[in-house]
Amino acid sequence: MNVVFLDRDGVINEFPGNGLYVTTVKGFRFLPRALEALKLLTDAGYNIFVVSNQAGVGKGVYSRQKLDQITAHMMKGVKAAGACINEVFYCTCKSSDGCNCRKPRVGNIVKALASLEKGIDDARHAYFVGDTEIDIKAGKNAGCKTVFVLSGREDRTYMKRWDVKPDFIREDLYDAATLIINEDSSCSRDRRGGAHQSR
Ligand SMILES: [Mg+2]
Repeated sequence: MNVVFLDRDGVINEFPGNGLYVTTVKGFRFLPRALEALKLLTDAGYNIFVVSNQAGVGKGVYSRQKLDQITAHMMKGVKAAGACINEVFYCTCKSSDGCNCRKPRVGNIVKALASLEKGIDDARHAYFVGDTEIDIKAGKNAGCKTVFVLSGREDRTYMKRWDVKPDFIREDLYDAATLIINEDSSCSRDRRGGAHQSR
């Protein structure tokens, strides 16, 4: 089962700035090489899920309808690039709501896995790619391998203050995609090698 979970802002599209949200279709701009990265993962057979906190909806900064328009715009761009995102899972709750879907909690990861008829135990074969400590914590809480990308909100200086450490650090989603594909193919080579030795 090849699954990749992606944060949205700062990973797929430009980070809107601290305390800011992408509130319009116009404000959603794909990062350089993000679409190529999604195409690479799609062609390599990955199930791709977006797991994103969008508390601006819960706070009334923008509407769910606006968010849905932004998502439709993103999906159209992804499709036009020959790539495919299985599904997008948002948490639109405020941090004070105590929901189980707001990262670093894993509610949306569980939902995504359930859509593939998989459970949380299967997350250990999956990757979580994000641009913040919250993403890396969410990935770790689920048991995923984690990739911190430097294309968004936080950088290596931020990372020094984190409670968690990512498994990998890469410049952007393209480099993360290449890493994931290479890791998984060397992993399956190792497994094949192991089977030969045991005979
Ligand atoms: Mg982000």
